[in-house]
Amino acid sequence: MHVLVVEDDELLGAGMRDALARWSHTCVWVRDGAAALAAAQDGAFDLLVLDLGLPKIDGLDVLKTLRRRKLGLPVLVVTARDALPQRIEGLDAGADDYLIKPFHLDELAARLRALHRRAHGLAEERVEAGALNLDLRTREANYAGRSLELSRTEFLLLRALAERAGRVVLRETLERAVYGDEGVESNALEVHVHALRRKLAPEAIRTVRGLGYLLAKES
Ligand code: CA
Repeated sequence: MHVLVVEDDELLGAGMRDALARWSHTCVWVRDGAAALAAAQDGAFDLLVLDLGLPKIDGLDVLKTLRRRKLGLPVLVVTARDALPQRIEGLDAGADDYLIKPFHLDELAARLRALHRRAHGLAEERVEAGALNLDLRTREANYAGRSLELSRTEFLLLRALAERAGRVVLRETLERAVYGDEGVESNALEVHVHALRRKLAPEAIRTVRGLGYLLAKES
């Protein structure tokens, strides 16, 4: 993979650059938003890792500009936890996934692999998270050894949660996974989450107020 890393923190940027090299990826590391837009323009990258707080041009503006230019580059946003709530709306401007700082480089590797596979349509066959097991080809779902009867929407929603188990998944991310870019009634997601809780277990899916939902990793 050829990855564009945009990060103004020297330590973190160098850490990501070195880790990508260890995983046999190539990387270009730039430290501000203007350089990011210039670099992204050449179209040679498979993925973009984007910090939000950047000199010259803010990360969110970088994201919006890229999407306006119709660059289909998958974007993993890395951001500080306290910056997240105010940024939710912006993340909907086109981030494919996000990581909260500080994060383990192993987690970064896993996120990048998943994004790359999704972007290239290299479908995973199974998703496993705790007691949950999804077969993506047959659309069969099992929870704690029980077979689940799920609607198409419920399956898509559960998949989006399971692929990010143990982490908060933003409402916007879930809505996009389930409904694509079509608009959706404001309470539609809640209704499906409620149905999933009944079918799995009440505690399996947590509501994270103002952000989204989380599927317990060890459910
Ligand atoms: Ca920063």
